[in-house]
Amino acid sequence: MYRFLILFLMLSLSCSEHKSETKMEVQKNKKVVIAHRGASGYLPEHTLLAKAMAYAMDADYLEQDIVLSKDNVPIVIHDIHLETVTDVALKFPERKRKDEKFYVIDFTFNELKQLNVSERFEPATNKAVFPKRFPTFTSTFKLHSLQEEIELIQGLNKSTGKNIGIYPEIKDPAFHQKEGKDISKIVLKILNNYGYKTKNDRCILQCFDADELKRIRKEFKSELFLVQLMEFKEEEKLEDIAIYANGIGPWYKQIIKGKDKNGNWLISDLVKKAHKYNLKVHAYTFRADQLDDFETFEELLKVALYDADIDGVFTDFPDLAVDFINKKD
Ligand code: CA
Repeated sequence: MYRFLILFLMLSLSCSEHKSETKMEVQKNKKVVIAHRGASGYLPEHTLLAKAMAYAMDADYLEQDIVLSKDNVPIVIHDIHLETVTDVALKFPERKRKDEKFYVIDFTFNELKQLNVSERFEPATNKAVFPKRFPTFTSTFKLHSLQEEIELIQGLNKSTGKNIGIYPEIKDPAFHQKEGKDISKIVLKILNNYGYKTKNDRCILQCFDADELKRIRKEFKSELFLVQLMEFKEEEKLEDIAIYANGIGPWYKQIIKGKDKNGNWLISDLVKKAHKYNLKVHAYTFRADQLDDFETFEELLKVALYDADIDGVFTDFPDLAVDFINKKD
């Protein structure tokens, strides 16, 4: 009887293993939606509310840009300075540097918590960068740490049963180094503490700085999925990138190069080349309120995801991208 039980257990185990493998296979080729700074088309970027909204919209990953505070707390914020998304100029007018900017790294976590966050604006004029979005300087939004955001996402994963990932970006490691701080060391330790250790842990780590990504792979021996963010100059280096990274993050205009004289979209061979080196391609930034030459957001998504065959989009409008992919797949 006991033997039968063991046999049964082994059989059902191998069955479920097989099942999850097939599921993984399907998942592997699924187009992914990365909520760029959260659902930032609808709520001020990188606020916990923008993240909760993106989570509810079923994005596959929520993005975190990370900059260190004076007391080494990783803050989720896009720029290394504060005056484009907070009221720092009102609350701490004497704390700007000679270049008129207020640096995150000059403030403690407690000081940063005193600031109110707004929809992005031009500090010189106080005008909104995206006029159709959430009104500037309204309601109450706050900055938060990487740990607070991970706890929000992991908490929601527990309460909803979903498994939504994180997609942190190490911002300007050279600047941090110059200020005497090792941002990657601090961030990797936190990711590790929260269980993000390997490629299977629903965490993708991104950086523009190639030397830093190599250091993360070699010196810190990180086994995370690494994405090399790219500007035009790195296009020829895919073979080198494939040695330390698992994907690339180009601007979509490196892939879609306008139209030919017959009105067909011109698509570069960047995606094909990247796929040849087994690199995933997650392009930025897809905005329904910034279409450039495209008639509709759907057209932009179609050309990028299906004609050019990129693997994922960083978007301020995760609901629209999720809907579009669900209809297509
Ligand atoms: Ca970013």
